[in-house]
Amino acid sequence: MSRYTGPVCKLCRREGRKLFLKGERCYTERCAVGRRNFPPGQHGQGRKKVSEYGLQLRAKQMAKRYYGLKETQFKRYYIMAENQAGVTGENLLRLLERRLDNIVYRLGFANSRASARQMVTHGFFTVNGRKVNIPSYLCREGDVVAVKENKREKAIVKQAVEDNESRPVPKWLEVDRENVQGKVVQMPNREDIDLEVEETLIVELYSK
Ligand code: SF4
Repeated sequence: MSRYTGPVCKLCRREGRKLFLKGERCYTERCAVGRRNFPPGQHGQGRKKVSEYGLQLRAKQMAKRYYGLKETQFKRYYIMAENQAGVTGENLLRLLERRLDNIVYRLGFANSRASARQMVTHGFFTVNGRKVNIPSYLCREGDVVAVKENKREKAIVKQAVEDNESRPVPKWLEVDRENVQGKVVQMPNREDIDLEVEETLIVELYSK
């Protein structure tokens, strides 16, 4: 599956907020949102009025970029969410949160979702003791996500655990940093997801 390989700070500037796409740098003064908080491009500082469609598009783009997905992948989650019982927008965010690469990032075993995705693809993780190298793998309640024993001493793992020691872990997850593993203690609720997006706008966009 292809992925975005362009400049990521531009994506945050376009959305006008931090999407935490670059790991450590996002928490420092070097973050581009802090230094140049206006959309990129020649007319970045001139754009003011946003249409209803524009708001809906921005909400969708923000969520998509936050989780590092392409349009086709993101739309697939929307269709899954629509087919589930409950509120579509909330279902959508819950599904995205349950992705293995997101959980690895949330547990602090990677500095960004992009890094988490790469580590998953390279076979760094097990779920309930079995190797899983699919970043989109949807975790369930009770699943134990762990760094494989032979990868625990890798610099990338050690560095991430050290860097993210103080980053809060959402309450639907439980982390055991010593054994480099974590558990999904419950499914995430909307209030557990820190993405500041009006998910109803995404539903409106796709419902047209
Ligand atoms: Fe976004 Fe991180 Fe770049 Fe800041 S440093 S603009 S949060 S990717």
